[in-house]
Amino acid sequence: MKLIFEKSVPGRHCDMLPKCDVETVALPESLRRQTPPALPEMSEVDLSRHYTELNQHVHGVNCGFYPLGSCTMKYNPRIDEEMAALPGFTGVHPLAPAYAVAGCREVLDTAKRYLCEITGMTGMTFQPAAGAHGEFTGVLLIKQYHKSRGDEARTKIIVPDSAHGTNPATAAMCGYQVVNIPSAPDGCVDLEALKAVLGPDTAGLMLTNPNTVGIFDENILEITRLVHEAGGLCYYDGANLNAVMGVVRPGDMGFDCIHMNLHKTFATPHGGGGPGACAVGCKAFLEPFLPQSALMDEPGHLQVRSFAGNFLVVVRALTYLMTLGREGVPEAARNAVLNANYLMRAIQGTFDLAFDRTCMHEFVLDLSEYKKETGVSALDVAKSLIDYGMHPPTMYFPLIVHEALMLEPTETESKETLDWAADVFRQLYELGRKDPAYMQEAPHNAQIGRPDEVLAARHPVVRWQKA
Ligand SMILES: *Cc1c(COP(=O)(O)O)cnc(C)c1O
Repeated sequence: MKLIFEKSVPGRHCDMLPKCDVETVALPESLRRQTPPALPEMSEVDLSRHYTELNQHVHGVNCGFYPLGSCTMKYNPRIDEEMAALPGFTGVHPLAPAYAVAGCREVLDTAKRYLCEITGMTGMTFQPAAGAHGEFTGVLLIKQYHKSRGDEARTKIIVPDSAHGTNPATAAMCGYQVVNIPSAPDGCVDLEALKAVLGPDTAGLMLTNPNTVGIFDENILEITRLVHEAGGLCYYDGANLNAVMGVVRPGDMGFDCIHMNLHKTFATPHGGGGPGACAVGCKAFLEPFLPQSALMDEPGHLQVRSFAGNFLVVVRALTYLMTLGREGVPEAARNAVLNANYLMRAIQGTFDLAFDRTCMHEFVLDLSEYKKETGVSALDVAKSLIDYGMHPPTMYFPLIVHEALMLEPTETESKETLDWAADVFRQLYELGRKDPAYMQEAPHNAQIGRPDEVLAARHPVVRWQKA
């Protein structure tokens, strides 16, 4: 498809401005552009068709199944968008005086109350722009806490090898040394390995629970107890909260602070870079170290982002929470777990399960044996799924499973969709045995087949430049 710039025809336009009824004043020459801006020139219908065509080339939750593990690509109810589009929210100025934005403050306060209730925390900030930023904020709380006690010898953060890549990156960004511990064969934290690294230099532990292989760590209370006993704090990566919200609380598991990816768990359309928002919650003793944003605070407070963060994502999250209510939130979590287990068992018997046990909201397939037998890799299967109109699952993550495909169907999919998805996996399993070459060249019906991912990551071309 052509870029909008390539469709441009000089002189074409679709603006219909009223006739100017005030005196025109010419800008001084020094303030004027030397060359006109390279903006595309189009008629309204061509413009409209351009965006419709773009829309047809992307895959979103509204197009089809999107089981991207660890990302919670659930359906986002339209009412969330309607609320976030209310002019009272979209038109508010970040520097408006507090008395003029009492409604916005109430949104933040109510969302905070609900999310604290769900997580078992007492303090919260909505400043961070996404999960990774929230981790950074949360680990800074831990750092400030130790510092406030003069306990400067704590220089290490423990991170299991199954962690999301952002966890070690966060710890390093906060100036900590990262201590990796291996997982036990069941995918959970290896208690002996944890004990071996705990000590007076432990600042804290960062943990995802349920973890990145979709398993709820049965030793969670023992884990947080051990870390506290060593004088460290426990950080909960809440990206997987969709599995447990309203059912169990990280605060009760012994965690001191948590981040929630509002865009994942609490229904904001995400992917492709945004928009996101993160709530960082903490226990009372960490509250003094929270960024003092809320809304329209006096200047001079510690902030990790401007103003109140991505406020409209919080509006969506609150709408979502209020729509589901006290009964609906745990029901969503339970259905997410049910759907994942249903799909896992429906696929079983074809590709190997990385861990053959009841999972939480997601599960991981291990294609290493299959690849040895057929030459078809996890990547080839992922690419083949595109031809069926399914978004590929997360690939090659977590790193502890080789040839991993990680599926998270979410609670919003029907049994029919799950049956269809399982059937596609079964078909591909057979196809790889019969015609591996075909799958190694997939996708066959996509706009873009197999881009050079290294090149795309190292030298991304994200800007059109006039020839
Ligand atoms: C998505 C995710 C993150 C990072 O969140 P972003 O909003 O993408 O920055 C961190 N940890 C886990 C386990 C995740 O799934």
